[in-house]
Amino acid sequence: MSTRRRIGVMGGTFDPIHHGHLVAASEVQALFGLDQVIFVPTGQPWQKSHAEVSPAEHRYLMTVIATASNPRFTVSRVDIDRPGPTYTIDTLRDLRAELPDDELFFITGADALADILGWKDADLLWELAHFIGVTRPGHHLSDKGLPEDRVTLQEVPAMAISSTDCRARVADGEPVWYLVPDGVVQYINKYCLYTGRPCGAPPVDPLRVRVISPAPKAVPSQGDQ
Ligand code: ATP
Ligand code: MG
Repeated sequence: MSTRRRIGVMGGTFDPIHHGHLVAASEVQALFGLDQVIFVPTGQPWQKSHAEVSPAEHRYLMTVIATASNPRFTVSRVDIDRPGPTYTIDTLRDLRAELPDDELFFITGADALADILGWKDADLLWELAHFIGVTRPGHHLSDKGLPEDRVTLQEVPAMAISSTDCRARVADGEPVWYLVPDGVVQYINKYCLYTGRPCGAPPVDPLRVRVISPAPKAVPSQGDQ
């Protein structure tokens, strides 16, 4: 019997993470018998400019908050800790290196699946993971031009939610309750995200613990003794 674990990989900007992402991941986890789904917030996405995207640490922490209660969900920092723009080929290579014995399933919405052939090193992606394209309201799900044996199309419960719409709602003072998890609403309010207003909340970066290897001990020279 195979002991290879089946690992889902859900990449995204997650600015912010919303219930459309969570429902898609949960549905695919159950239908494909995945042991785990790893959410991977992008570093700087190559499709979006810096100005458009919130700092990676905020997006990472919102993803952690949103997934914390599900024992099958985890979050990886591979993309946000790698300098430069995020390409899916690098995400999959890094995860493959971390999990050499596991089978990877990359979960992606209909909009992103349609773009996949234009991604960097698209033809190499198929060797690293099986792709699961999920339905998304407003987008047509098709595997035209993609290798049949490496891509599966999957219908998931329709959630007409997008991060773009959530950001616009916050900017306009409209509620995002029930579109994103409660903890994410509170996080957005705490850090005044998407309002363009300065905020009194403490910065997130200093909270990160960095492991720094101890400096080598100075060897006393003869003259010091
Ligand atoms: P933005 O509007 O900022 O682009 P988004 O809502 O599209 O945000 P992303 O972080 O870009 O969210 O998406 C990450 C992945 O989740 C993509 O593969 C996307 O297709 C998928 N996805 C996003 N929203 C949904 C949804 N409502 N239903 C199914 N899949 C979704
Ligand atoms: Mg998107």
